[in-house]
Order: sequence, then C-alpha cells, then structure tokens
Amino acid sequence: MQITFLGTGTSQGIPVIGSKHPVCLSENPKDKRLRVSVLIEWEGYTILIDCGPDFRTQMLTNNIEKLDAVLFTHEHNDHTAGLDDIRPFFFKQGDIPIFAHPRVLQNLHKRFEYILNNDDKYPGAPSVQINEIENKAFFFKKLPITPVNAMHNRLQVFGFRLKNFAYLTDVKTIEPEETEKLKGVKVLVINALRQEPHHSHFSLEEALAFIAEVDPEQAYITHISHLLGFHDEIQATLPKNVFLAYDNLKITI
Ligand SMILES: [Zn+2]
Repeated sequence: MQITFLGTGTSQGIPVIGSKHPVCLSENPKDKRLRVSVLIEWEGYTILIDCGPDFRTQMLTNNIEKLDAVLFTHEHNDHTAGLDDIRPFFFKQGDIPIFAHPRVLQNLHKRFEYILNNDDKYPGAPSVQINEIENKAFFFKKLPITPVNAMHNRLQVFGFRLKNFAYLTDVKTIEPEETEKLKGVKVLVINALRQEPHHSHFSLEEALAFIAEVDPEQAYITHISHLLGFHDEIQATLPKNVFLAYDNLKITI
C-alpha cells in the first residue's frame, strides 16, 4: 500500500493569504501546506480520502491518472470543495464511487446538487455513485475499510482504517471503543493543529498523548496550522517514531 500526503494544512492552507507570519513567509517547501487529503494506492486501485479545494492542484502535482473511490471524513469545505474537479476522471471512467456518512451526503446534495442528482443532467457535469456508510466495516473491492468514529467538537467525523494504515483528521475527542479499533496499526495519521488548545482539533500535546495510547510503529501528524511553528523545528522535538507529515510525502506500508 502506498500513501501520498496530498495536503497537510488546516482549512486556510499555509501560507495564509496576506499573512506576514514567519511560517507563512518560510521558503522551506515543508512549510507550504495545501488543504488536507491523502491518496492510497493499493492493488492498482486509487482511493482518495477527502476532496478539498486544492484537489485539482494535488492531482496535477502527483500525476494521478485515475480515481477509483473517494471517502469523506466529514462535510466541511476544506474536505469537500474540490468535488467538481473529479470531471476529468468521470469523463474517462464514468460515475466515481463516493463513500460518506448519510449526513455528509445530504450536505453534498445541497451544495453539489448538479453532481449528486442525475435528473436533467447538464452535459459535462460529473456524476458519482453514492455509497452511504455507517460505523461498520465495509469493503471497497477486496479491501476491508473500518470507519472510526470521532468528534470534531460537536460534529461527528469518520476516520478510516485500511489494513495496517489508519487516517484520522479533525478529531477533538474519541471514545475508547473507537480507539480500540486502531490497535495494531503500523502507521497512524492524526491531526494536530497547533500548540495551544483548540475547541475542535487536537493540539500537538493531545495528538502525542493519543499516539502514545494507540502505540503504532509510526505516526504522522497532519491538518497543521502555521501556528504550530516551522516544520524542521517542531520535528526536532518529536518522539523518534512521530513525524510531521508534509505535502507530497510518500510512504509505503
Ligand atoms: Zn478540516
């Protein structure tokens, strides 16, 4: 299984437009972060988790030629706004399978009615094949996928475990029985926004405590704000099996 971190930034991305914050002015490519998304390649299939406003750039940068499924963690704009740009994949492949919680699908219906509703379709509009998921393991082809339920302040979000890889973002709290589903993963991806506590995201300290509890071989931190600090400086403070993810990082599991 190959994982590509397509974006590792929080909702505004880094640099923030117009910001003079030192991290936003950094010339280190690892300090430039698009909106959060990850690509999983497995047995010839290409699976995307979240399709945010930087989706088009992310596909072009990584020369992605096909898209077999899109899993959504939740409906916030930084995770969904790129849906229209699945068009080139739709033209080549037909309806693109999407997987999401019923509430997220309802939200997508409102915002992308012309994509999700097949009546009176405008020529050129993409179509999707809709798959509702609940907090229960399911298969994509022969790949078992286990949703992991968590809370983003008061909003439910799904993380996903795919074999020995787990990806969770926008988590603030998680129940012990959901954490239990992550036991034995080799690679855990988890969000940390900044040093200071935040109402809907793990701080770095909370993420490190969660990583210690799950105890994966390696952990990667994503959904990072410029307020966390410079990539290289923060990386130097982390335990030896914990890494700040950065855009276009690839790992093989
Ligand atoms: Zn987010």
